Amino acid sequence: MKHSDKFDEIIIEEKIVKVNGDIASRFYTRGKELGKGGFAKVYELTNNENKFVSAAKIIKKSSLSKGRTRQKLMSEIKIHRSVHHKGVVNFEYLFEDSENIYILLELCSNGNLNEKLKRRGKFTELEAQCYLIQLFSVIKYLHTLKIVHRDIKLSNLFLNDSMELKLGDFGLATKIEFDGERKRTMCGTPNYIAPEILDSRLGHSYEVDIWSFGIVAYAMLIGIPPFQSEDARATYKRIQDNNYSFPDTEHISSEAKDLISSILQTDPSARLTLNQIIDHPFFNKNLIPKTLPLSTLCIPPSAT
Ligand code: ADP
Repeated sequence: MKHSDKFDEIIIEEKIVKVNGDIASRFYTRGKELGKGGFAKVYELTNNENKFVSAAKIIKKSSLSKGRTRQKLMSEIKIHRSVHHKGVVNFEYLFEDSENIYILLELCSNGNLNEKLKRRGKFTELEAQCYLIQLFSVIKYLHTLKIVHRDIKLSNLFLNDSMELKLGDFGLATKIEFDGERKRTMCGTPNYIAPEILDSRLGHSYEVDIWSFGIVAYAMLIGIPPFQSEDARATYKRIQDNNYSFPDTEHISSEAKDLISSILQTDPSARLTLNQIIDHPFFNKNLIPKTLPLSTLCIPPSAT
């Protein structure tokens, strides 16, 4: 069987809308490129009929010749289209033509938090509180559905035009099939990887998302992730040794330090749980706005 035949078979199982001819140019107008991923290009795509604009992740079928890549995409589609929450980039529509697969996603026109952090250097504590509380609700939702995202990081946290936080990229997400199941696939992004993922004998589960929540919190307040090193190997070594510190030059509140250090625990069972996170003083010492003004894309909020 040729790769393409096999691919069609899998697609039909997944019930992608199959179309003849070039649907993308017949029904949609392609706008600017929004970014490039591992094997996808993302463009603005306007529906010619209702003028609705989406972010279209376009994947060339020719790039899916490897079984593993195809399987990863299928799993991403299956999990992403099953989740519906205001903190998740909405999965709008899926179709394919002879050349490409098109995944239409909710457009997040204010980019991702990695770009924003690069522009700003670091965030104020109020901003970190506002983003982290939104991230908390998405993780809580996903874990209730027994889904572990496994790739929570600043560049997967998007902002829509109302500055609402949206978690995207379900390429590494997995479903916990039975209570106590430990996953063993080595995956993630070096700076954000939890120590138990690096030791495949241990297996990993929900707690890896909590770990990356802690990494995101640190990166927001300090400007760089805690274990950042010259290369991935050195980063892994620092993660395994739990070798990080809070620089003396930065003013970080005692509540923020306590939250982060209670999350960045090597032993997953010693890490804060989601309920303990939301009850932590970091989230309960002041009023936290639901969203931040657009101006914070470039400058800190004025009240802090
Ligand atoms: P990868 O999976 O390799 O991280 P993606 O294919 O998900 O990358 O996305 C590539 C880039 O496209 C992102 O870094 C981002 O800049 C842009 N992008 C992805 N999804 C959206 C979206 N829903 N709205 C706006 N831009 C997006």
